[in-house]
Amino acid sequence: MSTLTNNIEIIKTEATKINDVDFDNLKFGDVFSDHMLECDYKDGKWHAPKIVPYQAITLDPSAKIFHYGQSVFEGMKAYKDTDGKAWLFRPLDNFKRLNISSKRLAIPELPEDYFMEGLKTLLDIDKDWIPTNQGSSLYIRPFIFASGKGFHASPADAYKFIICTAPSGAYFSGEVRVLIEETYSRSANGGVGFAKAGGNYAGQFYPTQLAVEKGYQQVIWTDDNNHEYIEEAGAMNIFIRINDTLITGPTSDRILDGITRKSIIELAKAENIPVEVRKISVKEVVEAAKNGTLKEMFGAGTAAVISPIAGFGYKDADYELPKLDKTYASYLKKRITDIQTNKAEDPFGWRYEA
Ligand SMILES: *Cc1c(COP(=O)(O)O)cnc(C)c1O
Repeated sequence: MSTLTNNIEIIKTEATKINDVDFDNLKFGDVFSDHMLECDYKDGKWHAPKIVPYQAITLDPSAKIFHYGQSVFEGMKAYKDTDGKAWLFRPLDNFKRLNISSKRLAIPELPEDYFMEGLKTLLDIDKDWIPTNQGSSLYIRPFIFASGKGFHASPADAYKFIICTAPSGAYFSGEVRVLIEETYSRSANGGVGFAKAGGNYAGQFYPTQLAVEKGYQQVIWTDDNNHEYIEEAGAMNIFIRINDTLITGPTSDRILDGITRKSIIELAKAENIPVEVRKISVKEVVEAAKNGTLKEMFGAGTAAVISPIAGFGYKDADYELPKLDKTYASYLKKRITDIQTNKAEDPFGWRYEA
């Protein structure tokens, strides 16, 4: 039960930008829909959200986001089916994870209505921005940051929750080669790796730049103790197929609990694809590559859904993945996107009408 919808103030744009957008050539997340949702936390509570034209925001230079990085975000997608209905994928899981991330960053938790009703109202207003081309979707970026003032290193007393949306094409193009990281870490025990905290990604940029200089596109993160176990692929979870078994590491303080990851695990189980959630060492993967039992590696996350890995580098050696006609990656990606876009039955109850 919600009475919030009545409380969402809506200020519509006077000039839509939709006619400037080339929906046949969308990149990822660089054009933005007409409206955004904005919601303020002050005086100890979240105030009712507003929907306003997409616009710049003004902040005090001492706002704590700039100095102490108190910010969290989510990534989601909306799809439109052939009947013009809009769908989300497991959106409550994004809402719950946003609050899990917020708690770790000492950001006040957001009420469910503010997120769900706010998002649905926003999507309703900008429904025409949801692309219909194959592979395209409306990428949704909910985020919260500390807008409160002061140089004191302590949690802010004011925050902003914003949702922006961006019609987007496919995330990656071309073959992805990755470098298994031996020096830097994305996350640590007791740290914030499980949270979608802004600073986690800033910390990845430099090691990723070094990998790009060596000719790779992404870094495979390993555990921070000894760089012995495979943890994530860039900002995605990772799956490794050895013979016919799909393997992914267990979630922890260090490995983010991806919604795509857990959907792949459930789907694989339902389709009798052997799947193991366990630690997987770099040594095991290198040996499997050498003896020919390593069949596939892929990243999993909302943006790319599944991103196949063509090869990896480790300790100055390069390993190629075989080019198979039938891959788990393409099969599972099709199964998931068919469910997301209402082209297939959804026995799991994942799809959610927006
Ligand atoms: C967002 C993210 C993922 C993927 O999560 P999804 O819910 O599948 O989008 C995986 N790893 C990291 C580090 C992430 O930030």
